[in-house]
Amino acid sequence: MGKRKKSSRKPAPSRQKVPLDTAFTCLFCHHDKSVTVRLDRKEGVAQLVCRVCDQRYQSKVNHLTEAIDIYSEWIDAADAAQREEQRPHRPVASTSSRPAPAPASVDDSDDDD
Ligand SMILES: [Zn+2]
Repeated sequence: MGKRKKSSRKPAPSRQKVPLDTAFTCLFCHHDKSVTVRLDRKEGVAQLVCRVCDQRYQSKVNHLTEAIDIYSEWIDAADAAQREEQRPHRPVASTSSRPAPAPASVDDSDDDD
């Protein structure tokens, strides 16, 4: 009994500078790790670019923003753009352009007394 879970602590991999660039899969060309996100916290901007199909996206960053945030933002933006494109350009039915249907003339005359 009393099986103790040994906290196997992995020694941190040699502390080298983590590159700011992070690679992701491209939404458009589906190449693995072709999308890189560069965070420029000093400038407060992030640049996302696919080196294969040259898709680009730019966003703002704050001190909490991670590359993955920019990437998911890009996905959302691309998704929204795509939906926008696919949406049939059909005039939105607006109630104001159409005269309100007059209350059907109630035919009282039919009413035989
Ligand atoms: Zn791509």
